[in-house]
Amino acid sequence: MMATEKTAYISKRVLVDGEVRPACIEVQNGQVCRVLTKGFDVKNYSKVQDVGNLLIMPGVVDAHVHVNEPGRTSWEGYTTATRAAAAGGITTIVDMPLNSIPSTTTLHAFRTKLDAAQNQCFVDVAFWGGIVPGNAGELKPMLNAGVVGFKCFLIHSGVDDFPHVERADLETALQTLQGTDATVLFHAEVDCACNGTKGNPEEYRTFLESRPAIMEEKAIELVCEMCLKYKVKCHIVHLSAASALPSIVAAKEKGAPLTVETCHHYLSLNAETVPNGNTLYKCCPPIREKRNQDLLWDGLKKGHIDMVVSDHSPCTPDLKLLDRGDFMAAWGGVASVQFGLSLFWTNCRNYGMDLFDMVRLMCENTAKLASISHRKGAIRPGYDADFVIWDPDVPFEVTEDRIYYKNKVSPYMGRTLQGRVYQTVVRGNTVYADDAGLNSSPQGGFVLKSQQDEKSKL
Ligand SMILES: [Zn+2]
Repeated sequence: MMATEKTAYISKRVLVDGEVRPACIEVQNGQVCRVLTKGFDVKNYSKVQDVGNLLIMPGVVDAHVHVNEPGRTSWEGYTTATRAAAAGGITTIVDMPLNSIPSTTTLHAFRTKLDAAQNQCFVDVAFWGGIVPGNAGELKPMLNAGVVGFKCFLIHSGVDDFPHVERADLETALQTLQGTDATVLFHAEVDCACNGTKGNPEEYRTFLESRPAIMEEKAIELVCEMCLKYKVKCHIVHLSAASALPSIVAAKEKGAPLTVETCHHYLSLNAETVPNGNTLYKCCPPIREKRNQDLLWDGLKKGHIDMVVSDHSPCTPDLKLLDRGDFMAAWGGVASVQFGLSLFWTNCRNYGMDLFDMVRLMCENTAKLASISHRKGAIRPGYDADFVIWDPDVPFEVTEDRIYYKNKVSPYMGRTLQGRVYQTVVRGNTVYADDAGLNSSPQGGFVLKSQQDEKSKL
């Protein structure tokens, strides 16, 4: 037979088609050919990898990662961010348009970013563009060049070269994108009279009170209104305030093409246990109380929240002002791309969720959001051979020497997480192996949205 160049991945536990069962995944030219659950013979394959009892699952698609290159490479870069992703079982990341210099808000800037990322990626990378006041004319050219959608802010973004949009800018952008299948992502917080900055800046409570839930609620009301008006796909990034969920549910029920994500830090950390002065826990919107966290988990379980992402947003440690412990002045953002799979797995069973929920929330729905679900997010014939091979029962401790992203700080340092990644495979290439470390050459590539991809979705 012509099967000589096929590789077989065999395990007693393969997560495929909503079941975990013994299976053999046939891989050829970087794609899955067949998944055989019985009657497979290792003699038919030129290469066989039998991983015994380790679980083979679709690789995680993290749709919210700030790589910051070019321009802020002391914060992060493609090599380090994608190595961390590979070590964490993530096979595709989608890069955010801001914190790099330039921001990805023009076709030229997008090309600059692609040049910077070239030959540096250890996993596959897709790209979000950005919407800022006055760049509506750049949106379709960026879309045609391969961005998978656009992010905007409804409040100051933290960097001056990515200004937030007002309602009029938003209406122009949404009109421009009507009739395309682009998704618009919203950082959904708005300024309000309530967010004064009183109190001791070293106390977490001072920061939390400066970003109350109403800032998210008000912003999300606007997003829902725009989504229903223009019927352009809208997506709320990093939902923190569970109190905004009723508006989201109501808009979805009215037919709004709306999705929403939350992040590992909102599901794993809570305000009551943030140590005062420890600004590694600062992000916007903020990590809120345990009561709110329970409601976010409830929203995930009910399907009201569609996906979970990292919002990996690193910076150099000095910008965290750890010596001063000033929550108000420190840079906001949590670096965590490497630990998402384990963070979610550590907690999800306490909330009655399982591996299948995890695949839905971290592989399938994130791939769908990024318009790459015709080749990513599942183990299926014709799909990219992107797998994470891991043991859900093995714990590990988050330690500095284990971290692959550039600045090795984390609010999770010293914590024990459940679920250890042993191997990560991207399009049939092992990009990370627990015993051998990372592949020495970057084998990831770009996943650009193209007309052809559109057609192959059908
Ligand atoms: Zn972000």
